[in-house]
Amino acid sequence: MEKFIYADNAATTAVSNKVLEQMMPYFSEQYGNASSLYSFGQKAKAGVNKAREQIASAIGAENSNEIYFTGGGSESDNWAIKGVAHSMAKKGKNHIISTAFEHHAVLHCLDKLKKEGFEITLLDVHSDGLVRVDELEAAIREDTALVTVMYANNEIGTVQPIKEIGEVCKKHRVIFHTDAVQAVGNIPIDVKDAAIDLLSMSSHKFHGPKGVGALYIRKGIVIPNLIDGGAQERGRRAGTENTAGIVGMGAAIEIAVATMEERAKRLSEIRDYIIDNALKIERSRVNGDRKHRLPGNVSLCFEGIEGESLLLMLDAKGVCASSGSACTSGSLDPSHVLLSIGLPHEVAHGSLRLSFSDENTMEDAEYILSVLPPIVERLRLMSPLWDRIKMEEKENN
Ligand SMILES: *Cc1c(COP(=O)(O)O)cnc(C)c1O
Repeated sequence: MEKFIYADNAATTAVSNKVLEQMMPYFSEQYGNASSLYSFGQKAKAGVNKAREQIASAIGAENSNEIYFTGGGSESDNWAIKGVAHSMAKKGKNHIISTAFEHHAVLHCLDKLKKEGFEITLLDVHSDGLVRVDELEAAIREDTALVTVMYANNEIGTVQPIKEIGEVCKKHRVIFHTDAVQAVGNIPIDVKDAAIDLLSMSSHKFHGPKGVGALYIRKGIVIPNLIDGGAQERGRRAGTENTAGIVGMGAAIEIAVATMEERAKRLSEIRDYIIDNALKIERSRVNGDRKHRLPGNVSLCFEGIEGESLLLMLDAKGVCASSGSACTSGSLDPSHVLLSIGLPHEVAHGSLRLSFSDENTMEDAEYILSVLPPIVERLRLMSPLWDRIKMEEKENN
């Protein structure tokens, strides 16, 4: 059989069989409208409510009515950020703090708000892929409406000091939102302990279906609707409930939390094994801190090559990987995340992200390590950039 290794789980994951099984009845058996009054619709509603409980419990929410279902991570980010910005602007607060390496769902919201007149401070990310809490605290002003910092980065996998950030925000009475799309299901999250006010998540990043997500909005925080219409989600997010999707998301998060510890241990072994061995390739580097890192994330750069060529050659060997975020592929600019941690353009171009899930094994790691070094070598043989690096090396010796 031809080799096929899926190592792009930060882009999306497969819906697991157990999740699919629980979703199936909601397509053509329990298809009632969850907002209808007859008992047939109420069965759909029960599925939605159960999922709400499963999600609330997975992130340590006080009450399941703090969970609002959305159409995915991007919608949750848009709702949270634009919502808080517009409600705080009425109180004269027009300043937002975020970081330079957020997902585009966050950065593009901030671009839009800037055009509306908001002032945006984007914190620098240090070379270890982490933001500094003291710098964040120093950026807080009298008119700061919102701090939005991602829980874990989608390209380099670094996990931010979220609890410390939450405490600083609480101390200064600033609302704190986190895009936790990469973190949920992979590392433990407790919104109360970390003083998080709003948290975005997306089902398809933890083996649930695509096109469904949720926003946690702590009780007491009131933001305007993003989607107006019917009275679904307690009047705060209109649209007939995506019942099957929501049920799938609930099932997926429950499984993810129950298997988290064992999986984190296994995936971090795979991760560390690949990083340790890939670093034996000359002029390679790992992006981001090795300790504060998602269990399944490997992010590397190889000088003198193009990430895109590397991906195509890995694809020819049956390996699905990424050079950064799915959103930047197709453009020739290097990833804003790699630039934000201070990598020069030419180094950032040679990036490779491998992201693993439950379905990956140590054999996958062995296979990847057997094909990767020869590919890098071949690409370097064809690369004028590599020639130049070697020439400079000689001159300096
Ligand atoms: C995938 C991702 C999103 C977008 O989620 P969708 O459900 O695809 O809209 C947002 N933020 C981060 C960090 C992500 O990884």
